[in-house]
Amino acid sequence: MPAAVSSFPSAKSPDSVAGRLARVRERIDHIATESGRDASQIHLIAVSKKQPIESLEAALAAGQNAFGENYLQDALPKIDSLAAHEPTWHFVGDIQSNKTSDIATQFDWAHALDRAKIARRLSDQRPDDAEPLDVCIQVNVDDVANKAGVAPDACHELATLITALPGLRLRGLMTLPEPRHDMQAQRQPFAELARVRDTLNDAGHELDVLSMGMTADLEAAILEGATHVRVGTDVFGQRLE
Ligand SMILES: *Cc1c(COP(=O)(O)O)cnc(C)c1O
Repeated sequence: MPAAVSSFPSAKSPDSVAGRLARVRERIDHIATESGRDASQIHLIAVSKKQPIESLEAALAAGQNAFGENYLQDALPKIDSLAAHEPTWHFVGDIQSNKTSDIATQFDWAHALDRAKIARRLSDQRPDDAEPLDVCIQVNVDDVANKAGVAPDACHELATLITALPGLRLRGLMTLPEPRHDMQAQRQPFAELARVRDTLNDAGHELDVLSMGMTADLEAAILEGATHVRVGTDVFGQRLE
């Protein structure tokens, strides 16, 4: 008998969001065990950019409640439609000035803060009755001139400025390194981010978050201390274009 052809895998199939999520959680558990870390201290952010709402619903049903988005116009209708489930929303993309108001009012976290001006706007626009917006400073650990993110040397100044803003709570550092293909090479920029965090904490900051690692390099990131991994493709499959 020919197998039924369906473009919507059932919830039990290995290609379903639930099946994929289970495998991503296994990846995290496995490397956590191998590196002697407690997997419950490693948070999975399911990066749902360019994914249809049905995929997010399937992830919620499978117990995933933290989502990452980086296209605001795409994200807002999803936030609206899933409001009853109260997931945690992470804005992981570049933050442009004209987007700060929606980010400050609709999201719980912003991961890619790299400018004082944006920090001030987000703080000013965070509603008074909300908890402060949790933020990470994006650090350019690759030293590529045209890349987003603050140079490691400039982090202390921006961290000090953010700490003084009432609408923001500085949680840690985030990085998005150039792709590297072997594990040793992948670990380098993550180790560098951990060093920058240590330097800042030695200078009196209290950063407890390292937002690093995606589908291709989450093991390397966890080995270097990631607390939040941002995984899209391995959770949801290929994105719609
Ligand atoms: C898209 C994206 C991710 C997820 O990438 P995958 O390779 O699909 O896991 C993580 N972080 C940021 C900032 C992204 O834009």
